[in-house]
Amino acid sequence: MEVYLCAMQILDGQIVSQATKDKLKLKTGQLIAAGKKVPHLAAILVGNNGASETYVGSKVKTCEEIGFKSTLVRLPEDISEFKLLSAIQDLNDDPDVDGILVQLPLPKHISDEKVINTIDPSKDVDGFHPVSVGRMVQGLPTFIAATPHGIMLMLEHYKIDTRGMHAVVIGRSNIVGRPMSILLSGNGNPGNCTVTICHSHTKNLKEICLQADIIVAALGRPEFVTADMVKEGAIVIDVGITRVTDPTKKRGYSIKGDVDFRNVAPKCSYITPVPGGVGPMTIAALMKNTYRACMEKN
Ligand code: NAP
Repeated sequence: MEVYLCAMQILDGQIVSQATKDKLKLKTGQLIAAGKKVPHLAAILVGNNGASETYVGSKVKTCEEIGFKSTLVRLPEDISEFKLLSAIQDLNDDPDVDGILVQLPLPKHISDEKVINTIDPSKDVDGFHPVSVGRMVQGLPTFIAATPHGIMLMLEHYKIDTRGMHAVVIGRSNIVGRPMSILLSGNGNPGNCTVTICHSHTKNLKEICLQADIIVAALGRPEFVTADMVKEGAIVIDVGITRVTDPTKKRGYSIKGDVDFRNVAPKCSYITPVPGGVGPMTIAALMKNTYRACMEKN
């Protein structure tokens, strides 16, 4: 029988995101008291995908909690690409709007790339525009994509010294895996890791993961990372959110992360739960970006 000696700590995204939101609420209150403009986030939702409705709904609700202004632009599933780009342009031109996000995924007839490129980089609070990504790669101040940004805020909050660690990022998407790999390899703390980025063509993934001090699982495969892939004392960040059919739940599904939490957690020094880990941090980071957009503009 294997005996694990490390004390595991949960990285609690609810607590850290609440602390971030409380600070923003305080600062927004000060803006209101001084008669200044409050941050304004505009979100565009195309169609009525259930998960997207939930994500946009919590972003709008968080704006209300903090005291930000928010606008939700709902557009039909069959809207033309041209009309969607025009709607983004209207928000670009609106001086009251500080941040713009277009909830992904979009219907297949619309190009994500064109949509992202149409958002004014000064309002790109999702951090997906090539200008934002390029600046992040160069280590220049910019909007950083909310999920990797949220993960960095969480590592910072728990004062985890990542310098010199080997980080393995599973997944290379533009919104999570790739920016995460760049931030962790950056010259900062958190940062200064030696990073291996893995994807569906990676060979010997288990052996690579076993060498990791930090594993960031961002692939969207429920409970993919199992205990035999994780070395004792590793830090495990679970980004995955997948709806899995579950007849025992009233809503008919449960949310699963990419990590087999029950068996992996006892081996870790730190681990994020799903739900309650990276998800709330993503929203907190988006709010931070929106506040920053407002401050830079005004
Ligand atoms: P994505 O665009 O589908 O990318 C998935 C990545 O995982 C791809 O790079 C893919 O490799 C890689 N991959 C797939 N199967 C693999 C395997 N068997 N072995 C190794 N790599 C594999 O997904 P995403 O948008 O990055 O999202 C990933 C997960 O995070 C999803 O569950 C999503 O819902 C969740 N998410 C959560 C938050 C949050 O706030 N918590 C935010 C964003 C996303 P290839 O490139 O070779 O195809």
